[in-house]
Amino acid sequence: MPSFFRLATIAALFTATLVSAVPISDPNSNPSFLQKRAGGATVVYRCTIPGTIAITFDDGPFIYTNGLLDILRSRNVKATFFFNGNTYGRIEDFAASVKSAYEDGHQVASHTWDHKDLTTLSPGEAVEELTKLEDAFRGIIGVRPTYMRPPFGSLNQPVLDILGQRNYTAVVWSQDTQDWAHPDDFNASYQVYEQLLNNTENLGQPGHIVLQHEVNQVTALQIAPMAIDLALVRGYKVVTVGECLGDPKNNWYTTSVIDSTIYD
Ligand SMILES: [Zn+2]
Repeated sequence: MPSFFRLATIAALFTATLVSAVPISDPNSNPSFLQKRAGGATVVYRCTIPGTIAITFDDGPFIYTNGLLDILRSRNVKATFFFNGNTYGRIEDFAASVKSAYEDGHQVASHTWDHKDLTTLSPGEAVEELTKLEDAFRGIIGVRPTYMRPPFGSLNQPVLDILGQRNYTAVVWSQDTQDWAHPDDFNASYQVYEQLLNNTENLGQPGHIVLQHEVNQVTALQIAPMAIDLALVRGYKVVTVGECLGDPKNNWYTTSVIDSTIYD
């Protein structure tokens, strides 16, 4: 991807994080606020099971996905991938990586087709952002995910209604490594993990959903293995979002096709 587009993406992400359509409650300041039912969709901010950590990788598939899968395989842990259809890489070009992630038992989830802020789109456009990727997933892994992460964490009531109609659970995060703001700064992201994992009181609390971006080489190939090793040493279970919520695996995907023509 041209670097100007990458910078534009980072700038857009930064802006949207500051002014997301619905203020995202900080679960750290309100530990009871783990999930809420808003409109038709469940919104998840944090794990419910103590001692778990759900590391999530956004914006792939991309050129580092296979290396990241090797790292996860070598440590026998599972993660969650919020894949796009066409952002850094085009999903058809990385179909083998998506299939490997699914077959390895990681949670494969939607991050929409091309990473637009859903709250800025018409209902028809927002639905298309979901359905284009649903179709691509069906072609690659035979099912489509029921978990999704809204680009920029940006949600409003119309988007929540659409997500609910399509049986999605929206996953935000409780810990942002901010690797998007400092993509080449290993220490800045890793310190977030150290602060989280070195505090032994956290182990008895509901686990965290940590935001990372696999399109960043430092994140995928350097921070991920170090963070996972630290989590394992500290006694955490490194699991998928579904697992950290106690949601059985067969709920993570569906074969049902939902009519979207009402928005045409
Ligand atoms: Zn993203």
